Amino acid sequence: MSKKTLKKKTVIRKKTNKKTDFFVHSTAEVEDDVQIGQGTKVWHFAHIRKGTRIGKNCIISKSVFIDSDSLISDNVKIQNHAIVYHQAIIENGVFIGPNVCFTNDKIPRAINPDETIKSSDDWEVSTIRIKKGAAIGAHSVILPGVSIGKFAMSGSGSVIAKDVPDFALVFGNPAKIQGFVCFCGKKITDFKKEKEKTVGQCQCGLKIELEHKIYKLWQQADNTRKIWLR
Ligand SMILES: [Zn+2]
Repeated sequence: MSKKTLKKKTVIRKKTNKKTDFFVHSTAEVEDDVQIGQGTKVWHFAHIRKGTRIGKNCIISKSVFIDSDSLISDNVKIQNHAIVYHQAIIENGVFIGPNVCFTNDKIPRAINPDETIKSSDDWEVSTIRIKKGAAIGAHSVILPGVSIGKFAMSGSGSVIAKDVPDFALVFGNPAKIQGFVCFCGKKITDFKKEKEKTVGQCQCGLKIELEHKIYKLWQQADNTRKIWLR
């Protein structure tokens, strides 16, 4: 590759209009009817499909794919090669690790029983929702219809098949609740019951409040069969 070609390929294109100011790398593909908020950066070879809304100050890293009609709030980081299938909802401050894979079809088939290829009308979308501040570890797979709670965290390579409560730490295949984490991400080790809540104290000084029934059920399960809650 000549120096001239290399230079041309690494130019960052800036798109500006009256309301927004954001960056889209020249190799990224942003389809029609996509909204991108102020301060958001879309990097090399990312592909954002039509109808998607992205908020302010997000980072959409190299080779990320975001399918149509997805809703992404502010301050979201989506790392390299993550795949966000359509109609996903990602709330404020969420971290999506590299190679994370969203899914949205509970009964995947390429063809119908008569062996004709399935069209977009031949299957039903199951929406994934990732709530505020949650973090999804690298290479995690999120199954259709799953909701991940506020500030919850999944370990790398998890297969998340069921809903995750707020502040829960999950990992494994299938991912199970392994404990609870603070806003800062550290594991909580000190819990106290206060009225209807269980309050966890982090070494950083912050406290988290858990529904007592969720903490109690988790505590009662033995280490090899930690509970899952729907
Ligand atoms: Zn903390």
